[in-house]
Amino acid sequence: MSQHKQLSDLLFPQIDKDAAYYENLYPQRNLPEGAKVTRFAPSPTGYLHTGALYAAMIPERLAHQSKGVFFLRIEDTDKKRELEGGVMEIISALKSFDVIFDEGMTGENSEKGIYGPYKQSERKEIYQAFAKILVEKDLAYPCFCSEEELNEIRAKQEERKENPGYYGQYAKHRNASFEEVKAELEKGKGFVLRLKSPGKPENRITIDDLIKGIVEMPENDQDIVLLKSDGIPTYHFAHAIDDHLMRTTHVIRGDEWLSSAPIHVQLFEILGWEKPRFAHVSPVLKMDGTSKRKLSKRKDPEAAVSYYHEVGYPTESVREYLLNLINSNYEEWRMANPTAPNTEFTVDLAKMGTSGALFDLVKLTDISKDRVALMSADQVYDMTLAWAEQYDAELAEQMKTNEAYARAILGIERGVEKPRKDIAKWSDVRGYMSYFYDNWFEELTKEGYEFPENLPNDDVLAVLEAYKNTYNKADDKDTWFERAKAAAEGLGFARDAKTYKKDKESFKGHIGDFMSVIRVAISGRKNTPDLYELLDIMGEERLQARFEKAIKSI
Ligand code: GLU
Repeated sequence: MSQHKQLSDLLFPQIDKDAAYYENLYPQRNLPEGAKVTRFAPSPTGYLHTGALYAAMIPERLAHQSKGVFFLRIEDTDKKRELEGGVMEIISALKSFDVIFDEGMTGENSEKGIYGPYKQSERKEIYQAFAKILVEKDLAYPCFCSEEELNEIRAKQEERKENPGYYGQYAKHRNASFEEVKAELEKGKGFVLRLKSPGKPENRITIDDLIKGIVEMPENDQDIVLLKSDGIPTYHFAHAIDDHLMRTTHVIRGDEWLSSAPIHVQLFEILGWEKPRFAHVSPVLKMDGTSKRKLSKRKDPEAAVSYYHEVGYPTESVREYLLNLINSNYEEWRMANPTAPNTEFTVDLAKMGTSGALFDLVKLTDISKDRVALMSADQVYDMTLAWAEQYDAELAEQMKTNEAYARAILGIERGVEKPRKDIAKWSDVRGYMSYFYDNWFEELTKEGYEFPENLPNDDVLAVLEAYKNTYNKADDKDTWFERAKAAAEGLGFARDAKTYKKDKESFKGHIGDFMSVIRVAISGRKNTPDLYELLDIMGEERLQARFEKAIKSI
């Protein structure tokens, strides 16, 4: 028996499965030509960052638009970062933005799919089997260096101005004999398993990254740790094994991993596996003064995806905005396809920016207004109510008390060629609807009314008195407007702005001023949606009460 075989048995006596066993267990996927297998691989921290949602949508789209598979792998090898219930939180948060997995973890301890376990802490035996194979092939070895020894190495490298790390002449245990290793183990010493890197720093490798393009880097020569002293793999080792055995075709991940890609490429090569394609995604940035920085969990409320639910941005708007950040040609596509579902857009990695996308809440708000403007009154009613039930009980009550009234309010200037864009998020609805409700209207007009400044009180009063008896709910819009113009003329107002401008001296104002008085009296505001619709919805009784109240205030 070779020394290396002996060593591998000594280090991993409990492991009895070989590579062929796993290759059979996880067969090649039977998918149509060009189908991509992608994954999202978060740590179970329970918190979903906006940048992570952005990064998860990319592999999701690529898999599903190619009829491939998208799976969720939980990378819980770092126990310090773990949070109880963290897996479920991530799954629910992604689901709430329509990021749906075909395979992988479905709950804290449940999963679907035949390529599992999909949680790294359950895969210890698999990692060790491949560790054993590498030892046997003399491509990995145990390292018994203590913290102090590693510090000494580092100090020496600093002094000599050499690259830091565990490699070449500094790799103390790289060539230890079987007997030497055995003696260390007999002393009860723990070890980490290191890669016996075949790389040379003078060699350069290229990675054809699907976002960053061709990236050239030195070959890895570091004997990096594959298994930590507790037998748990490092990210590098777990990534190679998992993405191979789960048959991932495209590794789409944050660009903080680009610098260690030479390690990953080397691992795939020494294990004799086909490499997946890599795409390294730049982080989502934000303008801070005149400089850009990453969206920060600590500084920016919008860094947590829960924020969008709390303030009530529709899921569709958030997706829409993130797709805009993913591919800048999205906007053009949307203009050509205003009502198509956003899943019909084809995400293209080649069209992604190589520096970070700039996140801007103002832009999200604009996009959201456009989306909400295209929704029906019933959709807006249902989604606002669902939101309000959770975040604004008073609004929910108000909406449910007279459902038809609320739906009618939300229907004003909707379904028309140029719908209004008052609502970006469900928390805007309270303000949008407030003056329709008498208790909120009281509140709004507590300090009085802001009637047009160019009109003396007597004229305001005259307008209110005149209109109170003029309004007729039965009128259609043209008749209604004609009647208002006649009433205005009767009081000495010009029937249109043009007439007024020609001879200002002869008039008190024009029809616009006249209507303004009515608008302020019934809504407490200078700007509202279409006045005809507003009056119609409010009903005569409420209107009369509002005119009375305004008259009394003068
Ligand atoms: N768990 C790694 C992270 O959260 C995943 C990186 C990858 O997708 O491979 O950064």
